[in-house]
Amino acid sequence: MDLGIAGRVAMVAASSRGIGRAAAMSLLSEGCKVSICARTPGELEATREEMAAAAPITEVFGSRCDVTKADDLAAWHEATAARFGAVDILVTNTGGPPAARFLELSEDQWREGIEGVLLNVVRLSRLVLPGMRERRWGRIVHLTSLAAKQPIELLTVSSTLRAGLSALTKTMSNEFSRDGVLVNAVMPGHVLTARQKELNDIRSREQGIPVEEYSARIVAAIPIGRHGRPEEIGDVVAFLASERASYVTGTTVQVDGGAIQSTF
Ligand code: NAD
Repeated sequence: MDLGIAGRVAMVAASSRGIGRAAAMSLLSEGCKVSICARTPGELEATREEMAAAAPITEVFGSRCDVTKADDLAAWHEATAARFGAVDILVTNTGGPPAARFLELSEDQWREGIEGVLLNVVRLSRLVLPGMRERRWGRIVHLTSLAAKQPIELLTVSSTLRAGLSALTKTMSNEFSRDGVLVNAVMPGHVLTARQKELNDIRSREQGIPVEEYSARIVAAIPIGRHGRPEEIGDVVAFLASERASYVTGTTVQVDGGAIQSTF
């Protein structure tokens, strides 16, 4: 299936590694011009070079940006528009928020989580929405987490804010779908990335078991019988960002190997 988005301009936030990187790669392989960002210039440039080599049919641009900072987001958006033109597709990936139990979390950590997982999504969306509405075409895909539907131990901040993101997805879709701007979310399950490995290390230490044993317990509860791969999330993001998803809006798609145990 041709997703019908060759030449479209896409911004993918927090994308030097993991799920963000995979989403950027899926959009590149569909022929989008993709703008990626991360905090560390060296890692960002290495990723940009690898992507450019893997997708020579189109262009990839990298800009240093801390997604928790409003000024950085505005500068990244401006640099992307200067390089590629108006933005058609926005993927609001983020870094993971602080992981701790409720009584261990300080107010500053809550604020850090809100800046990093919620406010950056709001800010980025506000930057691209006026142009998308004017051109009557746009796709916004928020990355949430299975924690939105099924709170996860230690992920107090993530579980709280990701449920809010699902509501934001619906609210934005109600407001902007008539303008041709479709807003959806992807809810990843357990995907093997640097963040997931770090969380597995913390939890296995807490439980006093080897990380391999902890990991095997997680896998035992996933009907497909393995962790997800970042590109399996990236391909769903690319579909939702595409012309082919023209009647899909306001929905959150679970990509979790069947892990979430709820019927709806
Ligand atoms: P990761 O650690 O592998 O990658 C995170 C990416 O974000 C990296 O490129 C990093 O450089 C970038 N980043 C982090 N903080 C940033 C900041 N402040 N500014 C700019 N860039 C920043 O993580 P991942 O596993 O790919 O997770 C991505 C998101 O998906 C996270 O929010 C995570 O909570 C969520 N998530 C992950 C899983 C999973 O199983 N991996 C499951 C559900 C949800």
